[in-house]
Amino acid sequence: MTSHQNLEFDIVIVGGGMVGATMASLLRSMSLRIALIDRAKFDEDQFSLQLETSKFDPRVSALTSATKRIFEELDLWKDIQAVRSCDYQNMHVWDADGTGSISFSSNALDQSELGTIVENSVLTAALYKKIVHQENLTVLAPFSIDKLEINDSGSTLTTECGTTIVTRLIIAADGANSKVRELSEFDTREWNYDHHAIVTTVKTEKKHKLTALQRFIETGPLAFLPLSINANDSEQNYCSIVWSSIPDRAEELISLNDEAFCLELGRSIEYRLGTIEWCDKRFAFPLRQRHAIDYVKPNVVLIGDAAHSIHPLAGQGVNLGFMDAAVLANELLHGSEIGRELNDLMVLKRYQRKRIGQNLGMMWMMEGFKHLFAEQALPVRWLRNIGMNGVDNLSVVKNHLVRRAMGLDW
Ligand SMILES: Cc1cc2nc3c(=O)[nH]c(=O)nc-3n(C[C@H](O)[C@H](O)[C@H](O)COP(=O)(O)OP(=O)(O)OC[C@H]3O[C@@H](n4cnc5c(N)ncnc54)[C@H](O)[C@@H]3O)c2cc1C
Repeated sequence: MTSHQNLEFDIVIVGGGMVGATMASLLRSMSLRIALIDRAKFDEDQFSLQLETSKFDPRVSALTSATKRIFEELDLWKDIQAVRSCDYQNMHVWDADGTGSISFSSNALDQSELGTIVENSVLTAALYKKIVHQENLTVLAPFSIDKLEINDSGSTLTTECGTTIVTRLIIAADGANSKVRELSEFDTREWNYDHHAIVTTVKTEKKHKLTALQRFIETGPLAFLPLSINANDSEQNYCSIVWSSIPDRAEELISLNDEAFCLELGRSIEYRLGTIEWCDKRFAFPLRQRHAIDYVKPNVVLIGDAAHSIHPLAGQGVNLGFMDAAVLANELLHGSEIGRELNDLMVLKRYQRKRIGQNLGMMWMMEGFKHLFAEQALPVRWLRNIGMNGVDNLSVVKNHLVRRAMGLDW
């Protein structure tokens, strides 16, 4: 793309991450001119992933059944599975300093799995491979949005290289630090979790047996998510870890050498998978809770992390984003069938009404968990252990909780 062009589209999706690319794919049947803009280079080589046995993307997502349904409808699920994914069938969660624990299994819910772990790069590669051939879509990358002017009839976006793009509707999927959200002056509520998440891949002595583990430690939760090298992986000894800790502890863990880190990790997960034999490069992300007060303004809609970012402890963040995209696509399709304008505020607000409560509910639940497990006062520790064991024994309550987390009961 050369600079200083003047372009015009009906819809512009800003942000071609997992949520923005899914949004583009969900609008494939609309007779419109749609643009997907991302500041990162659009590199076709990355779509033909050369997977190495032990080289997993450090960023993975635990996808729910609701997300799986969206990708099945897009005819993408089999493409993701053909590359690499791991269905997990059990989950075990326990409290580090007590006796409270809770276990979930797909059998008890008559489901084949509780969820599927997919590397983020596998998901985006499958999505991009598909949308690159989508007739109503133009991908503009690397283009970074710098300015935004909103008028009654539409909006003008200006990129850092000076290109102007006129459009009737902007869908902001540009992540937690959304530039579009900032330029459109959406108000947010936000605060630091005071946690940093360390992610990496590890090799364990024992098989994971398709079980996800989460231990709530005083300094933050530690999760082991099972990975499969391929569909016939009988070794089952690679996991992706997400270790959320207070910043001092995270800094300490990042600065350890690999051997010391593996020792500390094995001890911290109580050797449930034996010793940790190997770990890949570690990455740390500061965690921040953020929620836009509104998702919609004239000509602009927020989806995914641009609308809400949430603690990764229950692996819900991107799943909520995919649901945003699915609901918004339905509302836009329905609106166009009954002759509404693309940027009709009534149509956009139907999306907001359907999503804001669901997203807030999940965010408050995660916030509650984080505080409950950070609390060291003896009565709270005692209560949470009783609570966990109580819920574990009440299959109706437990199944309701896990069905909600899986997106089966929304
Ligand atoms: C450690 C960790 C573990 C997680 N684990 C899980 C999990 O197991 N399950 C789960 O559901 N969620 C998980 N999440 C959350 C999940 O990663 C996010 O919710 C998800 O990545 C958000 O996707 P998105 O497409 O909305 O935003 P992003 O992935 O942030 O994508 C935004 C895109 O916008 C582009 N962009 C940004 N600014 C501009 C601009 N000015 N102009 C043009 N383009 C721009 C970026 O290049 C990027 O491609 C986890 C998060 C963390 C930190």
